[in-house]
Amino acid sequence: MDEFHDGFDEVSADFDDPLPERTCRVCGCTDSRACPGGCYWVQEDLCSRCAEILRGPMAAGLVIGLILGVIVGVILGVVFMFTVIR
Ligand SMILES: [Zn+2]
Ligand SMILES: [Zn+2]
Repeated sequence: MDEFHDGFDEVSADFDDPLPERTCRVCGCTDSRACPGGCYWVQEDLCSRCAEILRGPMAAGLVIGLILGVIVGVILGVVFMFTVIR
């Protein structure tokens, strides 16, 4: 059991070595190569620049989703009304 444990620790130590720097998952910037104008970490793998860029479409998507949901609901309601009447 002890032998297995020692081997596991060695493997995990080797695995940590190839990841020396934090990298943004969107733009790929790191601590040493930040975005133009600078950025800071908002999440484990997301910098402030990309968080700002992502926030716009996300809010727009939410609004569009709500509007589409209402429109689809109204259309379905009208269709349902007409099918029931006929
Ligand atoms: Zn980024
Ligand atoms: Zn960045």
